[in-house]
Amino acid sequence: MEKKHQFNLGFAGIAFLLLAAFQFWLGFRSTAVLEYSQFMDYLETDKIAAVAVTETAIRGRFKEPIDGKFDFTTVRVDPDFAEKLEDYGIPFSGAHDQTWLTTLLSWVVPVIFFVGIWALLIRRFAGQQGMGGLVNIGKSKAKVYVERDTGVTFDDVAGVDEAKAELQEVLSFLNDRQHYGRLGAHIPKGILLVGPPGTGKTLLARAIAGEASVPFFSISGSEFVEMFVGVGAARVRDLFEQARKAAPCIIFIDELDALGRARTGGSGFSGNDEKEQTLNQLLSELDGFDPASGIVLLAATNRPEILDPALLRAGRFDRQIVVDRPERAGRAQILRVHMRKVKVADTVNPDDIAGLTTGFTGADLANLVNEAAIVATRRGGDKVSMDDFTAAFERIVAGTERKTRIMNDDERTRVAHHEMGHALTAASLRSADPVTKVTIIPRSVGALGYTMQRPTEDRFLITLPELKDRMVVLLAGRAAEEIVFGQISTGASDDLAKVTDIARECVIRYGMDDEIGNVVLEEKALRFLGGTPAGQMQRDYSESTAREVDLAVRALVAEAYERAKAILTEKRQTLEEGASLLLQKESLTPDDFPPLRGKARANTP
Ligand code: ADP
Ligand code: MG
Ligand code: ZN
Repeated sequence: MEKKHQFNLGFAGIAFLLLAAFQFWLGFRSTAVLEYSQFMDYLETDKIAAVAVTETAIRGRFKEPIDGKFDFTTVRVDPDFAEKLEDYGIPFSGAHDQTWLTTLLSWVVPVIFFVGIWALLIRRFAGQQGMGGLVNIGKSKAKVYVERDTGVTFDDVAGVDEAKAELQEVLSFLNDRQHYGRLGAHIPKGILLVGPPGTGKTLLARAIAGEASVPFFSISGSEFVEMFVGVGAARVRDLFEQARKAAPCIIFIDELDALGRARTGGSGFSGNDEKEQTLNQLLSELDGFDPASGIVLLAATNRPEILDPALLRAGRFDRQIVVDRPERAGRAQILRVHMRKVKVADTVNPDDIAGLTTGFTGADLANLVNEAAIVATRRGGDKVSMDDFTAAFERIVAGTERKTRIMNDDERTRVAHHEMGHALTAASLRSADPVTKVTIIPRSVGALGYTMQRPTEDRFLITLPELKDRMVVLLAGRAAEEIVFGQISTGASDDLAKVTDIARECVIRYGMDDEIGNVVLEEKALRFLGGTPAGQMQRDYSESTAREVDLAVRALVAEAYERAKAILTEKRQTLEEGASLLLQKESLTPDDFPPLRGKARANTP
C-alpha cells in the first residue's frame, strides 16, 4: 500500500516537470526571437498582426507564419536610441534575457523547491504521529520489538517470589515442550501480570524470555492510542504472524489496559474505533491461537478493573498473576540486586534501608540506589555511604510525595492498629471469612493497608446476621483507632463507604428493615439506550420514605460500630500486641500471629 503512495507522489512530480518542459519546448519551437531591427522591418512590411509590450520585451504574432513560427519576441529598446543607431546604420539586437535557462531557474526550480518542502513537512508531521509517514500507513514500522536475547534473568528480579514461582511453570513449558504435554497438561493461553506500576512486570516478562533464551516480542498498548483506523489491527496481526515464525517465543503486550479498556456502551460515535478494531483483532488472534505452537502470551496491566471482560474470559487471558509491592525482605533483596551495579560502602546495610522504605516499588528502589550514587559522586566520595542513601531518600520522598507515599511513624502505628482491628474482629466472628494476611504495605492510592480474607465457599445467599457481621469487620478499623488513640482519622473513608453501601442495600433492596418492611425502594439510574448511566437517578418513593431509609441505614451502621468497639475493647491486649508485631514485620499471616486464626468458620472443605 505504501509503495503505491510513494510512487504516485514521484510520478506526479515527474509528470509535472515533463509537462512544463514540453510546454516550454512548444513555445520555444513556435516563437521566433527577433533582432529589433528585423522587427522594425517586419513592422514596415506589414507582417505583424498584434503586439504586446511589456517592460522589457515586445511579444507578438505574425499575420502569416514565418519560418514555421507563429509568434515572436524581441527586446524593447528606447525608440530614440533605436532611431539613432539606425541612422548610423549599426545593426543591433539587444540581449535576450528570457532564455530557457532563466525560465527554468525562475519558475521550475521554485516549484520543485516547494514540492520538496511540502513532501518533507508531510513526512516530518506524519513521523511525529508515530506512523512513519502518511505514505507509510500499514507498515508496522518496527513497533513490534523483537529481542533475540533480553539478557535479563530471574536473578535480576527480586522480591516477587510468588510471581516467579508461578511463572516457573511457563519456563518449564518453554524449555521442554515435547514432554510438557505428555500428561495432557497444557499451558494457559494467556497470562496477565497485574500490579502497581514499577513492581517489575515488564522486567519479569523479559526475564522469562532471557531464562528460556527465546525471542521476546513486545508491543505496548499505549502505542495504539491515536493511530489511524486499521493500523493497530494490522500491527497486531503482524505481531502474531512474526511470532508464529519464530516459535518458541514469548509475546508480551505491555499496558494492556490502554488497548483493552472496556468498550463503552452502545454508540459508535465514541471516537475510539481504532482501539476497538485493534482489540477485536487481538481477541480474534487469541481465539485462533494454539498454545501448543510454543508461543507464550504474556500481558501486563496496572488497572485490571478497567479491562474489557472479553479479554479475561476463559481461553484468553485466563490466568492472572499478581505482582505486588515488595515486603521488607523483598525490598532488601531488590536493593541488593541494584547495589551490585554501584560501589557501595561496607557500612551500608540493605536491610536497614528496606526498613525505611515501606511502600516503595522495585522501580522506586532502583531509583533510590541511583540517586544515592549521584549524591556520592557529587560530593566526590569513592563509595556510596549510608548518608548518601539517607540524602537520596529524603530527596525522593520530598519530590514524589504524591506518587510514593511514605508514612511517618505515627501514621504507620495508626495503620497497624487499624488493620489489626479489622483482622481480629474478623477472626472473632464466626460468619466472617478467615483472615489470610494483614499488611500495612499500601496497596493503592487511598488504602493504607489491607486485611485479606479468603472466602471459604461461593455464596449465593447471605443472611442478615452475616451482613451485619461484615459491617462490624469493616468498622473495626475505625473502632480500633478510637479505642487505642482516643481519636479517629480519615483512614477509614473506604471502609465507611462500603459499610454504607451494605446497610443501604439491606434497607432498600433486601427488605431487611422492620420499619420499612418487605418493599424494594431501589433507585433506578436513567440510562440512554442501555448505555452508561446518565447520572440522574429516578426515585419512586416519597421524601418521608427517603428520610426513614436514612434513619434505618444510620441505625444499622451505629449498631455495627458498637459491636466492633465491644469486641476490640475486650481484646485490647491482643490488638496492641498484634499491631506492634505488624509494625515490625509489615505483613502477618495467622501462622505468624495465631490469634488471627480465631474461630472463623471451619476451613475444612
Ligand atoms: P512495571 O512494568 O511493573 O511498571 P518495570 O518492570 O518496568 O515495572 O520496572 C522498572 C524498573 O524497576 C526495572 O527496570 C528495574 O530496574 C526496577 N525493578 C522493578 N521491580 C523490580 C524487582 N522486583 N527487582 C529488581 N528490579 C526491579
Ligand atoms: Mg511496565
Ligand atoms: Zn480499614
